[in-house]
Amino acid sequence: MDLKSGSLLWVDTVTKENSYPRVTEDITCDVVVVGGGVSGAIISRELVRAGIDTVVVDKRKIGHGSTSANTGLLQFSNDKTLTSCIETYGEHNGLRYYQLCLAGIDKVEALAQECKIDPDFIKRDSLYFATSEQDLSLLQKEYKTLKKYGFKVDYMNRNDVEQSFSFSKPGAIYAKGDAEVNPFKLTVGLIEASANEGLRVFENTEVVDHSEREGEVTLLVKGDYTIRTKFVVYATGYEAQQMKRNQNAVLETSFAMATEPVTHFPGWKDRCLIWETARPYLYARTTADNRIIIGGLDEPYIKKDQRERHLQSKRDQLLQSLLSLFPDLEGVNVDYYWGAVFGSTHDGFPIIGPQPEFPRSFFALNYGGNGTMYCTIAAEMIRDFIVKGGHPDAPIFSNFRLPKKSNKINNGNA
Ligand SMILES: Cc1cc2nc3c(=O)[nH]c(=O)nc-3n(C[C@H](O)[C@H](O)[C@H](O)COP(=O)(O)OP(=O)(O)OC[C@H]3O[C@@H](n4cnc5c(N)ncnc54)[C@H](O)[C@@H]3O)c2cc1C
Repeated sequence: MDLKSGSLLWVDTVTKENSYPRVTEDITCDVVVVGGGVSGAIISRELVRAGIDTVVVDKRKIGHGSTSANTGLLQFSNDKTLTSCIETYGEHNGLRYYQLCLAGIDKVEALAQECKIDPDFIKRDSLYFATSEQDLSLLQKEYKTLKKYGFKVDYMNRNDVEQSFSFSKPGAIYAKGDAEVNPFKLTVGLIEASANEGLRVFENTEVVDHSEREGEVTLLVKGDYTIRTKFVVYATGYEAQQMKRNQNAVLETSFAMATEPVTHFPGWKDRCLIWETARPYLYARTTADNRIIIGGLDEPYIKKDQRERHLQSKRDQLLQSLLSLFPDLEGVNVDYYWGAVFGSTHDGFPIIGPQPEFPRSFFALNYGGNGTMYCTIAAEMIRDFIVKGGHPDAPIFSNFRLPKKSNKINNGNA
């Protein structure tokens, strides 16, 4: 699958990438992580830390899948609101999901400190604004739900928004505790840190076959070498859909652009992360080297050549959207713009854990706008599946989760 097109900002931020060999002989290990994107990097870090003999293989170079297109916003709020998660999956599961995402931000902060290369992790607040007056009542309901469960949020009315930003919106939730990161640097940094602690890493090595018997999995990689292992973790991103189509998965196309570095950010309170209630939504952030990234304009899944034909018009639309929020940026140049396959799920939750057809395999389908947070959830869960045989949060992220029977919940209306 061609995962991305255009010019990618993050790849240019690493001047000298490490290289790892391809597999050139048969290998034996305890766990193989297939995929060296941000999912594989965070999961393998957890496994190495648990003392497990782990191998990572990737058919590309490390981090050159969707991770290089990921815009690096780290938020506890998800594409699906907390109110809606609770309505679908009940108070315990909906709330736990949000709490795990919030905890994931601290985990990424700790992981960033383990990298020799600085992944530019910076704590940021988030502005979630109502795109239109019609969205206000749902926004206010979400604010009350978040507040009720202790998340650090403030409500902004139109006047508050106008006081802090160069644009006007009918209302917004201002959340504390989010962050931004360079996901590519995080990935190469974590793989490097783990490799220094015994992780065996192989690039340009495609897994082409999988067979399980007698408590062992044998993977066949291109070149006809085998990897014998006790467990496999599939952290293969959106390409997992080529191996086994999941009915809950939705593949689309998303677009983003990054400006040249700018000298100041007028009308942008604390350089917070910005997103909105519209679906699909636009989002924006700044970077450690003072660029602005804006992304969105999602479309149904399209093939590479069609995606490439759309790149320039999407760049122009994104720039116009940026200027409508921040008119003082008039004249700013765009240095990078890209389009990429983007995956989510129909019900809004990632899919993590075993699947019956592959009893010794675990899937980390960290699909959704908060994919990096889901990696932290997957890492801990999969480690415990391997070490202890299960994890208490497994039902929330299982491929076979069931919606709550009764939708009646008390959102508190606090
Ligand atoms: C435009 C865009 C913006 C995004 N913005 C955000 C954001 O702001 N915040 C956020 O949290 N998330 C965001 N995401 C989501 C996030 O990018 C993804 O969830 C995450 O980066 C995917 O990482 P991954 O490691 O699962 O997949 P990938 O990075 O694609 O890694 C999977 C790896 O598996 C390898 N592979 C696949 N099949 C095989 C095989 N058979 N053998 C060997 N190797 C194989 C691939 O080569 C690839 O390197 C965004 C996504 C996109 C596309």
